[in-house]
Amino acid sequence: MSEVVDENQLSATPETQAPQEEAKKPEVPEPKLFTTSGTPQHPELKTFLEEKLKHPYNKYCIDCKKNLSTHAVVWLGLFVCKTCAEAHRVTFGGNQYSYVKDVFGEMWDDYQLRSICFGGNL
Ligand SMILES: [Zn+2]
Repeated sequence: MSEVVDENQLSATPETQAPQEEAKKPEVPEPKLFTTSGTPQHPELKTFLEEKLKHPYNKYCIDCKKNLSTHAVVWLGLFVCKTCAEAHRVTFGGNQYSYVKDVFGEMWDDYQLRSICFGGNL
């Protein structure tokens, strides 16, 4: 019993894989500085933070003392302007260490809120 060889199958070239296109890098939008949340802040939280920043000592950046505070250095409980916030971020080697937050652009957890309650630019 001879096996019937299908010549077509033999000569058929194995399906050649198309050369893999160089993996396209997904377009990563430029991250907004310090903004980690797209979720709007709870009105109560916003009010609380606004009250904090109304305080004459907190109103202005503790570093340059001329710009309005827009960011908080959580681990120090201080309020700073965006320029100085960036300086903190660079100085301490990244936001994971400097722990700077955009006051109105991010969510806050209890620990962070406690920090700025005990702290402040006094
Ligand atoms: Zn400043």
